[in-house]
Amino acid sequence: MNKLPRPVVDDPAAIKLLAKNDQVKSFPHLQDVVETITAGYDQYLAAEGDALRVNQVVLSEEVEGYLRAHYARPPAALSHITALRLEAEQRVCPMCGSMHRGTLDHLLPKEDYAAFAVFSQNLIPACKCNIRRGQTVTGQGAGERILHPYFDECLAERLIAARFEELGRVPRITLQILADPAHPHYSAIAFHVREIVSNSAILKYVSDRWAHLCQLPELAVRALSVVPESVDALRTLLEHERDLTDRAHSGRNNWNSVFVTGLLDADVLQWLYDCLSAPGRDPNGPLL
Ligand SMILES: [Zn+2]
Repeated sequence: MNKLPRPVVDDPAAIKLLAKNDQVKSFPHLQDVVETITAGYDQYLAAEGDALRVNQVVLSEEVEGYLRAHYARPPAALSHITALRLEAEQRVCPMCGSMHRGTLDHLLPKEDYAAFAVFSQNLIPACKCNIRRGQTVTGQGAGERILHPYFDECLAERLIAARFEELGRVPRITLQILADPAHPHYSAIAFHVREIVSNSAILKYVSDRWAHLCQLPELAVRALSVVPESVDALRTLLEHERDLTDRAHSGRNNWNSVFVTGLLDADVLQWLYDCLSAPGRDPNGPLL
């Protein structure tokens, strides 16, 4: 999960240019629907990409097919698609917070929302979590929808953390939502976490980080090569680590920040401090 800056693309100009191109298969069929499509773009922007508020645009199956085909093989007028596909793959996935991307995908699926198949504001560089999501965009409950990385400012807030219980070599690990239940987008946040983040490999990732922590604490948090003087010193050290991790990944909901934030729970902090400072423990050895 991460907030992304919106792509700077003149989408109405792009679709108008494409409609005039007599060298592509869609010619001249897009010419009659350019106004309909650009009106759809305007409405999408007015609704700020909110899956509950964006209207579906009615187009013929033929035109829908042309738009999906243009997404697959973008002509020059749609060069923004090619550029977005080349977006840095090593960066955090804005949908689930994993440490990579790898695909360009549609926030509102092109199967149900063909009018937005080539719309830059609907194209999100993401990891395979977005493919796994399929065509899910909204839920049954009030306010349940997926979050939009270009529009939902709350994605820049710290929304989730790992929760460690039954502390030991193999703790019970779950995800907790940090957003206040009174948060105006709480239903959307909870839905997004349930439908996308929880279905990713996040718990496996966090579990691996915990295994590193047990094996040699500095493998998980570099500064733990030295045993902190107190629980407070450990908290300060981990807060610093969390803030650096946030900065390195341009957001607070990447999987590394989710792991470190989980360590800042009061019970975990005390347990970790007790283990680190246990009499006879080698500071350069295993935690347990
Ligand atoms: Zn992802």
